[in-house]
Amino acid sequence: MAKQEFKAESKKLLDMVINSIYSKREVFLRELISNASDAIDKIYYRALTDDNITFNQSDYYIKIDVNKDNRTLKVIDTGIGMTKEDLESNLGTIARSGSFDFKNENELKDGYDIIGQFGVGFYAAFMVADKVTVISKALDSDQAYVWESAGADGFTIEPTDKKDVGTEIILSVKENTEDENYDEYLEEYRIKQIVKKYSDFIRYPIKMDVTESKLKEGTEDEYEDVIEEQTINSMVPIWKKNKSELTDEDYENFYTEKRYGFDKPLKHIHLNIDGTVRYHAILYIPENAPFNYYSKEYEKGLELYSNGVLIMEKCADLLPDYFSFVKGMVDSEDLSLNISREMLQHDRQLKVIAKNINKKIKNQLLSILRDEREKYEKFYESFGQQLKFGVYSDYGMNKDVLQDLLLFYSSKEKKLVTLKEYVSRMPEDQKYIYYATGDSIERIEKLPQTEMVAEKGYEILYFTDEIDEFAIKMLMNYDEKEFRSVSSGDLGMEEDNKETKELEEENKDLFDAMKEILSDKVKEVKASKRLKSHPVCLTAQGDISIEMEKVINAMPD
Ligand code: ADP
Ligand code: MG
Repeated sequence: MAKQEFKAESKKLLDMVINSIYSKREVFLRELISNASDAIDKIYYRALTDDNITFNQSDYYIKIDVNKDNRTLKVIDTGIGMTKEDLESNLGTIARSGSFDFKNENELKDGYDIIGQFGVGFYAAFMVADKVTVISKALDSDQAYVWESAGADGFTIEPTDKKDVGTEIILSVKENTEDENYDEYLEEYRIKQIVKKYSDFIRYPIKMDVTESKLKEGTEDEYEDVIEEQTINSMVPIWKKNKSELTDEDYENFYTEKRYGFDKPLKHIHLNIDGTVRYHAILYIPENAPFNYYSKEYEKGLELYSNGVLIMEKCADLLPDYFSFVKGMVDSEDLSLNISREMLQHDRQLKVIAKNINKKIKNQLLSILRDEREKYEKFYESFGQQLKFGVYSDYGMNKDVLQDLLLFYSSKEKKLVTLKEYVSRMPEDQKYIYYATGDSIERIEKLPQTEMVAEKGYEILYFTDEIDEFAIKMLMNYDEKEFRSVSSGDLGMEEDNKETKELEEENKDLFDAMKEILSDKVKEVKASKRLKSHPVCLTAQGDISIEMEKVINAMPD
């Protein structure tokens, strides 16, 4: 039979997957089980939209079968199956190399399992198997096929017999070597342990024939081995459990299992809402921004379930852009399963949930800011820019939600402060909230324009992010106090104005001469009291500051 070649790049990747991507070999089982569960989800979804298919919950399960004599471990599912083409494209094409460059580019430390969403999960099987055989019959095909591969050499696909729709993955488990033990993957107790650890919340039963020693009937001390089919996962999804039953570790495991991120979540929010719209949700505030977060490729959204069945992987309508970093899921009994994407947008229930979630996220962030400042600053480092974009992009419409979540570096405190903190420290005679813009804190500190304001004892917010000033322009004010750049023409300091007017009159000739010489560079030359150790400085007139002008000029037309 003709062998098909893996592409050169694929060979390299397969080698990577097998030898270095995974921190733990045992995760191969999680990968195979989640693929099986995905396959059942798919057939379930088809049943909802196709009247010719009926879905009996009891017909759908995953079965694990171990056979020590043959050294085989099977993962069998009653899911949607794969056609010949599916086998060829899904199991024959490994993730593009761009995905695996990612691990290096982002300098991920050990302990991260980069699998799943890159379409490489299946290949984890080769960590424990010499040979993998996949027998599958697709829902849409009368013919079953067998795919077989012993690793990097390639794979074969042949027609075969299989009565029922679904997939059977057979691993020929490797022989033990001097320093590696593979026999453990043929032990029932070990398999049970791995399933519990990673796949406990899989919604379909994961069954296995378990051998147990039981008292022989009619005897008092004679035991016999009895084989019994057991369901080894608890199946109750974590979000339907009581918060009090769950530990931080459970939430962290769920985050990892779901591949919401490679980091550890900073905080989770678990909602069990029994109001006008009933829903469960587990939301996470990540600690680090994903590598593509501030790019167009990033897609926001929460997983959306209708009573335990996934209906959408990334429901964008549940999250406003400024909270696009939030990960997690929502499950509601009140949503119809076969609702279309278009209908979902107008769904009243979904809007209620979105509004509710938005409020919870905001409150959670405020409480981290209040009680766990360091944690908040970590969060802000990753996502603060997004909050500022949020203030800016909707013409200040989200001011109320966002203004108290912003942090800026303070000249006085030498650390990040909130606007509320700034305003609460303002002396009575201070009219404005002062800010200075520049590339870095060090550079701003050296700006001549900051001297007078600082001398006066007023606090200055340092804007080092390009978006800062744009965002603040949208806010307009905070607690009725307007923002004012230290390089603005009018700093709102009375004595300054009066004395400088006199100075200007006394030296009128000098000022006129200067203006003439610099006529194509400046609009006006004025006296100022704001300078202490510097002879001159540039100030902006009107609404656009010098820094903003730079940003605007740098923008592509
Ligand atoms: P991922 O799950 O991230 O897509 P995998 O390497 O785990 O990547 O699987 C690749 C693809 O192979 C899946 O997306 C799916 O289309 C198909 N597949 C794998 N296992 C099964 C299965 N048991 N039943 C049906 N399709 C499967
Ligand atoms: Mg997978």
